[in-house]
Amino acid sequence: MTVKERFLKYVSFDTQSDENTHTSPSTTKQFELAKYLKDELASLGMVDVSLSDYCYVMATLPANTEKKIPTVGFIAHMDTSPDASGANIKTRTVHYDGGEIVLNEEEKIVLSPMMFPELTKYQGQDIIVTDGKTLLGADDKAGIAAIVSAISYFVENPSIEHGTIKVAFTPDEEIGEGPNHFDVKAFGADFAYTIDGGEIGELEFENFNAAAARVIFHGLNVHPGYAKDKMINACLLANEFASWLPKTQRPQETEGYEGFFHLTNMSGTVEEASLSYIVRDHDRNLFEQKKTFLKELVAQMNKLHPGSTTLELRDQYYNMIEVMKEKKFIVDLAAEAMRTAGVSPNIRPIRGGTDGARLSFMGLPCPNIFAGGLNFHGRFEYLPVESLKKSCDTIIKIAELTTKIS
Ligand SMILES: [Zn+2]
Repeated sequence: MTVKERFLKYVSFDTQSDENTHTSPSTTKQFELAKYLKDELASLGMVDVSLSDYCYVMATLPANTEKKIPTVGFIAHMDTSPDASGANIKTRTVHYDGGEIVLNEEEKIVLSPMMFPELTKYQGQDIIVTDGKTLLGADDKAGIAAIVSAISYFVENPSIEHGTIKVAFTPDEEIGEGPNHFDVKAFGADFAYTIDGGEIGELEFENFNAAAARVIFHGLNVHPGYAKDKMINACLLANEFASWLPKTQRPQETEGYEGFFHLTNMSGTVEEASLSYIVRDHDRNLFEQKKTFLKELVAQMNKLHPGSTTLELRDQYYNMIEVMKEKKFIVDLAAEAMRTAGVSPNIRPIRGGTDGARLSFMGLPCPNIFAGGLNFHGRFEYLPVESLKKSCDTIIKIAELTTKIS
């Protein structure tokens, strides 16, 4: 089976996750793909192939040398985003010669370089697209296909020396719960890579520090006709509070390494109101300062309106650079592997998080590498076949280069 054939097989499974079920996995249909992958890995000759009750697939390709080589892991997620349907995906491979690609003649849905200028980079290549009604699922079934094909390559070419290689496929990445039940100890890798990036060349090892905050305002409701000197309107307290946060630190005003306060939800009555924020910053000190600033504003509000305001604040994940800066060779290895595979590494900070960020703090250093797809989470998602092949080549080269680490 080629890497493309594997990919097309995996997208035939509907594995959409759901943030509202509060179960692990969030949807039982993810088990269908998990079982298929478990069987496929076993049939390739991998050992210790397991599927946990939480829907994590793990397997080992034993080393074929006596040399002492670090154990490297490769991880991809099985679920697709709740943002668009992942059922009955109808794929088509198009040889792209430029211009628009008509995805759906009937409904006049077109993939256009006007809207998606990156498309022009793939002129002359084969591209896998949808019929414009579902997402494609390259995020992250391209990652799974690249990993399984790399394993298959080593099985078919036993003369190529490699150390122990670990593979894991996880559920529920799209709802932020991928690492929740990931057994780092059982996985047993010294370091790993998530194959969950987008365009060819992507290599990511810096992400946001992240916290979620909820500010709750308690008002006092009386008849508005007789409210003088009595009423405290919680909605207005919330409005006042929101106006104190710096306008220049909103998502729409920031880029690169700049952090932000993002108001994600507001609700309220005169009696009670609340504001929900996510707080993000690459720099740990600035991140801590942002949280302190929120606490100070709450104190300020309570000074003006005693007992009116409470704050719930919790950290979500941290920037993996803290782990990676002491293990820079893991990033360097991936960059060298890409160059050996004829890909120029495109290193940039993630303005978000990855499963690897949490795994890194759970004891498994884990940068993120491209799987090749574009326009994730929507109907215009597509996957250049050449990029998928290069993702697979990069995995093979990482495993090969690992044998040179002493
Ligand atoms: Zn993904």
